[in-house]
Amino acid sequence: MGKVFLVGAGPGDPELLTVKAVRLLNAADVVLHDALVSPAILDIVRKQATVIDIGKRCGRKLLTQDEINSLLVQHARSSDVVIRLKGGDPSVFGRSGEEIATLTAADVEFEIVPGITTALAAAASAKISLTDRRFASSLTLMTAHRGSGEHAVEWNRLVNSGSTIAIYMPGSDYRELSIQLRSAGLAADTPCVVVSNAALPQEQKLYTSLERLPQSAALPAAAFLIVGRCASAIEKVEIDSCGLYPGTGSQTFLDRNKEIA
Ligand code: SAH
Repeated sequence: MGKVFLVGAGPGDPELLTVKAVRLLNAADVVLHDALVSPAILDIVRKQATVIDIGKRCGRKLLTQDEINSLLVQHARSSDVVIRLKGGDPSVFGRSGEEIATLTAADVEFEIVPGITTALAAAASAKISLTDRRFASSLTLMTAHRGSGEHAVEWNRLVNSGSTIAIYMPGSDYRELSIQLRSAGLAADTPCVVVSNAALPQEQKLYTSLERLPQSAALPAAAFLIVGRCASAIEKVEIDSCGLYPGTGSQTFLDRNKEIA
């Protein structure tokens, strides 16, 4: 019986892999990976390994989650090092829950190797601080894929929390999101930044406001949306002589309504 490693591949730049992920990819017998895992990262996989693309893209389902679960157990019974490689971090919108349950029920040994989730990579690309203490004291990771019943987004509570909102899978039409957030109470000029293909050579960014967001042409997938006062592009921040933040009044921000492609 082998061992399964649920490994986070980060946003796509191989330099953002953990040292442990690189070591495991070099030792892999089988790698089952998502569509979002970049070719540069797959290049690191041991050449003798069996590499299986189980990604789902544009609604074209290659394998169901049940089939993926069965494949993991099947390979763990015949190979030593089985890697389930996921974009970002395995525990964030990565469907790891079902896989953990399956592996536990089948008595297969497994380990989770964290990766850099997109919220962190997108913030780094946009050069913003998600919990900038002047603007937010919490961070919400959410998806725009609306759930129903108890999993539906509680927009009012979300907005009232004053949290920076990091949105996975925002889709390509931001109108609905913009309306939901504004009708829950966020100001029309709340800054947002869309980061497309964060940490990849084709990365693009769009700094805008909640009000202007629906009019912007959607950036190519995979795209990520950060909403909150921390999401402005900073033109210049005056640091006082002690190197501490000055009061919010003395900072110079770019016009939040100005878009920078
Ligand atoms: N487990 C992943 C999330 C998977 S959900 C993580 O921790 O990041 C897939 C969504 O992640 C995409 O729809 C997109 O919103 C986001 N995403 C993944 N990689 C991205 C990238 N390089 N740039 C921008 N968004 C990305």
